[in-house]
Amino acid sequence: MLGAIEAGGTKFVCAVGTGPGDLAARIAFPTTTATETLGRAIAFFRQQRRTTPLTAIGFASFGPLDLDPASPTFGYLTSTPKAGWGDVDLVGPLRAALDLPVILDSDVNAAALGEQRWGAARDVETFVYVTVGTGIGGGGMVEGRLIHGLLHPEMGHMRIPHDRQADPFAGACPFHGDCWEGLASGTAIAARWGTKGEHLPPDAAAWELEARYLALGLTNIICAIAPQRAILGGGVMEQAQLFPLVRRELLGLLNGYIQKREILEHMDDYVVPARLGANAGVLGAIALALDAGA
Ligand code: ZN
Repeated sequence: MLGAIEAGGTKFVCAVGTGPGDLAARIAFPTTTATETLGRAIAFFRQQRRTTPLTAIGFASFGPLDLDPASPTFGYLTSTPKAGWGDVDLVGPLRAALDLPVILDSDVNAAALGEQRWGAARDVETFVYVTVGTGIGGGGMVEGRLIHGLLHPEMGHMRIPHDRQADPFAGACPFHGDCWEGLASGTAIAARWGTKGEHLPPDAAAWELEARYLALGLTNIICAIAPQRAILGGGVMEQAQLFPLVRRELLGLLNGYIQKREILEHMDDYVVPARLGANAGVLGAIALALDAGA
């Protein structure tokens, strides 16, 4: 059995299992201080281990993360805006306390891996997974391998065109203002319209604008890495009316330039919802451990 941690800015979810059919135990608790929160995770796995042998822990975390094995701060959170979590070692305390391999990756790369193993990306090798929630995160695979380099992709902070006459909202990203996340995250929707997205009617103008921004970001991703599919998840994408709007905007923005049937004829199978739902985070973490050979 494998351990899984989904680390978010507001809550941690820990679980034990090997896939969607056998999540044997699951616990969620709020993200407080780093010491207390990692301590609760360690306590959970210690308790599980009394009855269930564990071979590895997959750890899907908010970021940015240092994922360079040669770096002295490998396994650390780096410049996160989450107070008290900057420069925190995520992997070290778990490894020391549990004496297990800990496989860390970004929450979105982990979710992408889960979608490839069990969800919406089983038949493709190059794809992106974008989550639109409190923030925007993007991960994915190229030719069957998760994308890593200097760190992991930070697609949410791409710059996209911002027509300030049509949308005077300055943007919500503390680092960039009107980057993709700054304009199109759930946080941005709430700040721009004065109410959370879930309280806006499905036909509100807000969704037309949101679809435009999502399609602008996707256009950049499609032109940059040529994904065979784009999977959209996160709380904002529970607004199902967004999908047809995003597909329509995307076709308009690409304007016939990419002559592939997947885009021109099968857009409904090209921009798709995530399939793993509420367990996407922990399943992604389990997929990280499986992918590492655990
Ligand atoms: Zn930003």
